[in-house]
Order: sequence, then C-alpha cells, then structure tokens
Amino acid sequence: MKKHNFYAGPSILSQYTIKNTAEAILDFAGTGLSLMEVSHRGKEFVAVMDEARALVKDLLDVPSTHEVIFLGGGASLQFCMAPYNLLKTKAAYLDTGTWASKAIKEALLFGAVEVVASSKDANYSYIPKTYSVPEDSDYFHITTNNTIFGTQIHSIPEVPVPLAADMSSDIFSRPVDVSKYDLIYAGAQKNLAPSGVAIAIVRTDALNKAPRPIPTMLNYATHVEKESMFNTPPVVPVFAALQTLKWYREQGGIPALEKKNAAKAALLYEEIDRNRLFKGTAAVEDRSLMNVCFVMNPDYAPLEAEFNTFASAAGMVGIKGHRSVGGFRASLYNAMPLESVQALVQTMKDFERQKI
Ligand SMILES: *Cc1c(COP(=O)(O)O)cnc(C)c1O
Repeated sequence: MKKHNFYAGPSILSQYTIKNTAEAILDFAGTGLSLMEVSHRGKEFVAVMDEARALVKDLLDVPSTHEVIFLGGGASLQFCMAPYNLLKTKAAYLDTGTWASKAIKEALLFGAVEVVASSKDANYSYIPKTYSVPEDSDYFHITTNNTIFGTQIHSIPEVPVPLAADMSSDIFSRPVDVSKYDLIYAGAQKNLAPSGVAIAIVRTDALNKAPRPIPTMLNYATHVEKESMFNTPPVVPVFAALQTLKWYREQGGIPALEKKNAAKAALLYEEIDRNRLFKGTAAVEDRSLMNVCFVMNPDYAPLEAEFNTFASAAGMVGIKGHRSVGGFRASLYNAMPLESVQALVQTMKDFERQKI
C-alpha cells in the first residue's frame, strides 16, 4: 500500500533527492567510489558544496552582503552560535514555542535577553503581535514556523533592529527578504535533506563584532572564510541538500512552491473545519502551512486512538501529534504531494461517515 509520509522531521524528501543520493552512494560522479568514501577536498565534492551554496543564494535571492554556510550540529547548535557571535549586550526574543524557548535559554548565557512577548500562557497556540523591540537590541530573534504547535509568522514584524530567525521548518516554503536578517538558520531535516547538517545565511559585516573570544568551530566567520570546508562537512546530507535545491529550481523555485503549499494547507484546514469529528488547535490567522495540528472535537475525544489506527491502516504515517499538544499533526513540507493531502482528507471523511 502507498505510504503517505506526514512526519515532522526527519521528514519527506523528494524522490529526486532520494534516488540521486542513493545512486551517488553507489557511484559518485563517475568516480567509481561511493559518496561516503571520497575526500571532501576532491574536486567532485568541492563542486557539490559550491553549487549547493550558490543555489541557496539563487533560490532565496540572497544579497551580496550575506553568505551561505553549511554547518554540523543541527538547529540546536545555532541556538548557541547565534548569541555567541551576534549578542554584544542585549538581544530581544519572541517566545512562540518549545524551540524559541530553547533559543532563549542559550542566549541567556551570553548577555541580557528581553523576551518581548510569549504565547506560553495559551500553550503557544498563537503568535503574539503587540510588543515593542528595544532599539538598543543587537537583534530580534524569531522562530518563523513553530513545528510543534502548528503556528507560523505570516507577516514578518517591522522592527528597528536586524532580525535573526530560526527557519528550520519553513525555509524554502515561501519568499524571504534576506536583507532584513543578520542571520537565518535552519536544520536540514524538515525541508531540505536528511539530518546532520544545518544551513545558515549570515550578514558578513555583522560578524567579528562580539566582545568575546569565540571558539574557532563556533565562529561563523571561520565557516564563511573556509566556504563551509573548515573541517569535514556532513558530505552525504550536503549532497542530498543539493539534489533538493535542484528539484526546487525545477519545480519553478520558491514562488511555485509557495503556491503549492498554500493549496495543500487550505485543503486540509478546510476539512478540519468542516468535519464534525475534528478541530484545529492553532489560532486561525496564525495557522502554519507546514505543520497542521488538530485534535478530536471534545464530544468525540474517545475516538482519538481509533482514528490513529484507522489512518495508519489507510497508509498515513507520522500523524500522531507532539506530546505537548496531543491529537494529530500532519506536516506538509515542500516535498509532500497534493495527492497525499487528498488521501488524508479522504481518510478523515471516511472515518466521519463511519462514526456519525
Ligand atoms: C526541528 C527544529 C529544531 C531542532 O533541530 P535540530 O536539528 O534537531 O537541532 C529547531 N527549531 C525548529 C523550528 C525545528 O523545527
């Protein structure tokens, strides 16, 4: 039976990415060797890294003020690298979920942190919108998409300081004005590649200004200068990332992906709102186009486990919600085809017909 992959991360990748990476694991670029056993300094892999960085710039219209780097350590290491490199005296943070609060915890190690607003009191079900960011903040950190709670910042705030953003779960899903950011970072395993690599886009003139020594590996400037080859990069995830980036270009780039994502999410939210068994958990205006969270309507709460079994039997994979929200979460990343969303919607309709 066909499986429909709704995992939140690691998550669905395009068949193009998976097939090309599998082939390169057997024979990389005609070398007769596996991608896993060649030098990262060889011309074949250097070409992969260069092309991957160039394609990110191309797809996201990265201005020449910024550089793209690939880093190990996932998005979680960026929670520490961001303040290590960019926090001089004080930074402002928006607390919109588990990942945002983890970023805040690390920033507190490096200076004053002003949490300008938080939606924690409502289990992070909405994005706070009324707050002010102090002008003397070195940067304002936002989490553009809250993977666990299914909320997304749809209108990037206008603030008097540069932005720094965790875009782990919505990078490449919509256009972004990179010039507003000193830093954008994302773990690869939501919308780009298998886990093991993170991508960062940094404004180069914001680097080397922090009033502290920075360990070499944690200094963005090291990786900018060495073009992500200071040490051995995660070769297989970077290769896979390049395949995804090529596939994005073939799909028509970010505007085309954004359109498809909007259609997929609209289809599922429509069904959640229509179907008497279910209800969404996020504030309607802040609903994420990437992670759709829903629960059973209270009248039908006892049916939760049964729907899980019913959906699994229909080929749905990974729709169990995160433990902090409960219910269900369907992640609709770029590689998710519309047909899989249609299949989930049909499953919800079939279950309703059986129960009501
Ligand atoms: C998954 C996720 C992370 C954590 O990523 P790791 O690569 O596991 O460290 C951080 N932020 C957001 C928004 C995420 O979705």
